[in-house]
Amino acid sequence: MHEMSIVSALVEQVRAFVPVDATLLSVRIEVGALEHLDDDVLRSLFGLLTEGTPLAGAGLAVERVPLRVRCAACGTEHAPPDPAALFCPSCGVARPEILAGSGVTLSSIEVDVPEGGE
Ligand SMILES: [Zn+2]
Repeated sequence: MHEMSIVSALVEQVRAFVPVDATLLSVRIEVGALEHLDDDVLRSLFGLLTEGTPLAGAGLAVERVPLRVRCAACGTEHAPPDPAALFCPSCGVARPEILAGSGVTLSSIEVDVPEGGE
């Protein structure tokens, strides 16, 4: 499953950022409009993959990044309302270079670090 490989890579990435004695509170990711990913599936997989690890219990917030492209023919930047309709509004050519709206990025994590040594 596509979601599974994305979330497991994400969990690995997050694990590298969280200090040993800290508690992970939440993770925020940005998901491009071109990615056909279901927020609920991402969240439940995240819960599943972190279960029984120090990351367990953290929330996953999914933020959608709208698609933004630049026309390779005339340079016009536009935001196609529909990812299937990538024709340039200025010249009608469909040669979009994707500027934003693809891929999955880890945007922030929130941790609770205990103060003072115990
Ligand atoms: Zn154009």
